[in-house]
Amino acid sequence: MLQHRDFSIGGILMGDSAKISVRGVSKTFSRDGKSVLALDNVDLSVAEGEFLSIVGPSGCGKSTLLYMLGGFESPSTGKLSSGGKPITGPGLDRGVVFQEYALFPWLTVWENIAYALKRKAVPDQQCKDIVARYVGIMGLTGFEQSFPRELSGGMKQRVALARTFAYEPDILLLDEPFGALDAQTREVMQDELLRLWRINRKTVVMVTHDVDEAVYLSNRVCVMSKRPGRFVEHFEINLDHSLTREQVVLSDEYRKIRNEVWVSVRQQVTQPAPAAV
Ligand code: ADP
Ligand code: MG
Repeated sequence: MLQHRDFSIGGILMGDSAKISVRGVSKTFSRDGKSVLALDNVDLSVAEGEFLSIVGPSGCGKSTLLYMLGGFESPSTGKLSSGGKPITGPGLDRGVVFQEYALFPWLTVWENIAYALKRKAVPDQQCKDIVARYVGIMGLTGFEQSFPRELSGGMKQRVALARTFAYEPDILLLDEPFGALDAQTREVMQDELLRLWRINRKTVVMVTHDVDEAVYLSNRVCVMSKRPGRFVEHFEINLDHSLTREQVVLSDEYRKIRNEVWVSVRQQVTQPAPAAV
């Protein structure tokens, strides 16, 4: 278990220059006259250029935390900031891929992917080139003029990923981004995300239930407790991604840390449920 103040990415020591900061954040939802404490006094710092994954039992508040970072929910107590500024709502600095791949139903595939590029006033030709490139990468050729209702779940998820990757926000907030994809497509998308991250060094916070995915992609994996969610363990990871996927996944280093994270998550999942609040 590591205390994260300083850590290294590919051998480069990063200081505590938080791109994202979460301080003392709790979130209580009220439903049918009952309150549900989803997150309890959570602290987290994510450095610029870090790729951080959050894993933990279902319902522990992972999506809630990501939505607060996206500015779609506000905390009951505590503070969240990105780039040194308090988070008060959504912004183009933070690109969110939601668990339920919220596309604009009235826009075509092409228009969905181009949406944020247009809002950022990217010149027309450049916008066309970027959208065409992502249509190709995401295997959406031939569906450019289709509407979301005409697509399968996996295709919708690829459009959602394309829409967010294409405009290159400073911070990527990904909620189980590959959950609806088949195993082969998931690996292609994971490697595309890794490639983009290595080129651009964006800050990534990804929620996933897939320990292998978290360990394969991240610099740091944070494990949350059962609801009310708190961070219980942080694992630093420095896999050599100049190697092939096969070499990484079959390496002793990968398997050791993967097993450690798996055991940590398992311990949380099998903890007795906390008393109702
Ligand atoms: P996770 O993503 O870890 O599976 P969530 O963040 O979606 O968990 O949910 C955490 C807890 O908060 C759950 O008990 C869930 O039912 C509750 N919750 C989430 N969003 C709402 C909401 N909008 N209203 C009421 N309860 C909510
Ligand atoms: Mg969730």
